[in-house]
Amino acid sequence: MVLPVVKYGDPILRKKGATVPAITPEIKKLVKDMLETMYDAHGVGLAAQQVGKALQVTVIDVSGVTDRPSTMEIGGKEVDVKNHMPVTLINPEVKATGKPVAGPEGCLSFPEIYADISRSETVDVKALDENGEVVQFSCGGLLARAVQHEVDHLNAILFIDRMTKVDKLELKEQLEEIRNSKGED
Ligand code: ZN
Repeated sequence: MVLPVVKYGDPILRKKGATVPAITPEIKKLVKDMLETMYDAHGVGLAAQQVGKALQVTVIDVSGVTDRPSTMEIGGKEVDVKNHMPVTLINPEVKATGKPVAGPEGCLSFPEIYADISRSETVDVKALDENGEVVQFSCGGLLARAVQHEVDHLNAILFIDRMTKVDKLELKEQLEEIRNSKGED
């Protein structure tokens, strides 16, 4: 089921996600709905807060993006990223392992807003998937950026919090427009 995507201004986006204590049928259904919603919106990632649930659950799929490469390593071995998409991360733990690099980002909760955001080039990720299995990998490129963006959502951090002051000032009116029109689209 495709769910409505919450827009900037909704207080749920500023609510830290609760740890998921057990993989219940409700959590599995949430993951399925989040994947459908992400694909419907042509996004590369979606956090539970963006569908109105403050939980440590996010889904990512970078396989549709061809102009921004991603890398992935499992157990120290490089793997083909598209064979491992989509990824579901429940209760994720992420460790930055690279130097900060700036790159363009958007967010489904901020229609038509784009800015360069500085993120670690690579990260280590450990989480559970929707079957309760441990997922552990290292990644770089767009996938590392997406993981950091989504895990920020789970911790109630939005990409506007990481924009430069200059970018944020330039986008001020557009941001206020989104905040004022939430729920009216
Ligand atoms: Zn986002």
